[in-house]
Amino acid sequence: MPAEIHLFKCLKDNYGVLLHDPANGATASIDAPEAGAVEEALRTKNWRLTDILVTHHHADHTAGIAELKARHACRVTAPQREAQRIPAVDATVREGDFVTIGSLVGRVLETPGHTAGHISYWFKSEKLAFVGDTLFSVGCGRLLEGTADVMWPSLLKLRGLPPETEVYCGHEYTAANLRFALTVEPINTAALEYQESVQRIREQGEPSLPSTLNLEIRVNPFLRCDNPAVRAAAEAHAGKSLEDPAQVFGVLRAWKDQFR
Ligand SMILES: [Zn+2]
Repeated sequence: MPAEIHLFKCLKDNYGVLLHDPANGATASIDAPEAGAVEEALRTKNWRLTDILVTHHHADHTAGIAELKARHACRVTAPQREAQRIPAVDATVREGDFVTIGSLVGRVLETPGHTAGHISYWFKSEKLAFVGDTLFSVGCGRLLEGTADVMWPSLLKLRGLPPETEVYCGHEYTAANLRFALTVEPINTAALEYQESVQRIREQGEPSLPSTLNLEIRVNPFLRCDNPAVRAAAEAHAGKSLEDPAQVFGVLRAWKDQFR
């Protein structure tokens, strides 16, 4: 039986995600932005919480953990490098480790840059990736605890997953991200088409997520730092030539930080 997913809004602009194995009822919450919204989602689906898979230590991804754990006795899995900053951790994981949610098997990918120990969870058979705040649709996380040289390889690692992989991220920033992407690449036709469909979806109050890697590779400037047009735009913005894609990424990220 294929995995089931339930995506729901949390806090101001976070998304919560439940991953459910219908074969045996196991259910994981990917991060826990707030206990109340996760509880309501569990009730809506009539699912029982067995696991919390944490991507990174930020409060808007971990604030609900203690309360959920007290109520459900669920297992909390967290990145080894950030476990000290995350409440009620049962298991720590690092690159290459596997997590199991019932019969669903996910692989841990270390994707540092947004935070120093950020991890993503890749469920290969289900073609799903939970990327926290590393990758957003048409964007990426801010470099709060890492440099461009740390983050660019993390994005390359995600870009290397099979293109049909569905990508679940922590926030709905897609429309704003598209404005930036089309400033970098004004004639990216895939991004122009995506902008139209995102506008329709958001007008209906629906999430733009999940995205797919296949789409992100075509529209997300942060995954396209080795594309000549993106590089040229970054060089024009920086007013100098840039030697490698990590430098291009650094210029784009700083540019986006100032972008309104
Ligand atoms: Zn974060």
